[in-house]
Amino acid sequence: MSADLEDLYREIILDHYRSPRNRGQLESPPAYRTEGFNPLCGDEVIIYVTVNEDDGKITDIAIDGQGCSISQSSASMMSAAVKGRTIADARELTTRFKTMMSIHETDIGGDGSEAEIEADASDADGIELGDLEALRGVVKFPVRIKCATLSWNTLGQALDEAADSPVE
Ligand code: ZN
Repeated sequence: MSADLEDLYREIILDHYRSPRNRGQLESPPAYRTEGFNPLCGDEVIIYVTVNEDDGKITDIAIDGQGCSISQSSASMMSAAVKGRTIADARELTTRFKTMMSIHETDIGGDGSEAEIEADASDADGIELGDLEALRGVVKFPVRIKCATLSWNTLGQALDEAADSPVE
């Protein structure tokens, strides 16, 4: 990764850390509330989501909790990325993000895998990682990967609850 790109990514991460998107709480119920902890780093993420039962879209999301810059900026980016999307699209985005993290985790050292991921990302059906690409550099520090994926795992639990809940 070029130094310029690393600077840009660092700026994006710091921007989300200092000015987190969708910060706050939602009344629960009707919002689904889930908590995630990363004991390795002491990160805590609490997620509130409301879902429109008719079209399965995430109508609102709020993030609470505290932790390191990676965990909190990832949660902020995640909230901005999934708000207004369907549960299915949010899960697709989760898969893409985790793939970006896990492929690097196993292929550190690089053998062209990064180019493959870039190609994948551009194929997305209107689902792009956007700012989330800035967290790509985290994979160079495997101990921090759990910081980056914490909010996504916590979101997954909330979406499971939303999908399982009976329609009233
Ligand atoms: Zn952390």
